[in-house]
Amino acid sequence: MKTVLNLGTFYMNAYLISLKDGWLLLDTGYPFDYKHFLRKARRMKIDLSSIRYVVLSHVHADHAGFLKKILADTGAKLICLPAEKERLASGANVKDVYISRKVLLPLNKLSAALPAFQTFEPLDVSGCIDPETQPLAEEGITFFVLHGHTDNDLCLRFEDKIFVGDVCMNGAGAAGYSPLWIEDNAALTESWRTLLQTEGDCLYPGHGKPFPKSALAKFIDKQARRKLCKLFK
Ligand SMILES: [Zn+2]
Repeated sequence: MKTVLNLGTFYMNAYLISLKDGWLLLDTGYPFDYKHFLRKARRMKIDLSSIRYVVLSHVHADHAGFLKKILADTGAKLICLPAEKERLASGANVKDVYISRKVLLPLNKLSAALPAFQTFEPLDVSGCIDPETQPLAEEGITFFVLHGHTDNDLCLRFEDKIFVGDVCMNGAGAAGYSPLWIEDNAALTESWRTLLQTEGDCLYPGHGKPFPKSALAKFIDKQARRKLCKLFK
């Protein structure tokens, strides 16, 4: 059985998953979270050079924040979708998004104006490993792609666990299990349906605590009808 550790902050998960030899890191925090990550790694006696792979679930500043730094400091290989090349090279979040909680719109408009929350070091990912080639099949890890939170949301699964990035979540401003930011709610709802058909019972979100897949089933219809508001008119 694999070990799962969390080197994230109170608002963001950065999962370390054990491999036969070393670790896989799933997502990084904001750029300014790197010191916290390093401190936590030291405390947990994780040798940075034992991180063999870094997986990026999707291109948002709170997931790709210190991606470039950690790749340089560990020598790890990056697993991310080649389709995200442009977004990663831009170094910034896409602005064409909807917010699932109207009450948080002013706060989101404020944070959208602060580069610290919206940008990360741009990255050339020409040489990255395409997850759709299933590079860690021997480790029992399968990759698949969902949509809706961003254009492409990379998920991975092993044993009874599915790591869903921000496709559904219960932390950091989530509305029930709905992510706060949504690019395409129809695609997101469809992704939830796909998740219910996918092997694995426990969902590990990018924000919040793991929860059973069955909990999501009750909210799908509500999610399909959810009224969203545009972050930028
Ligand atoms: Zn996100």
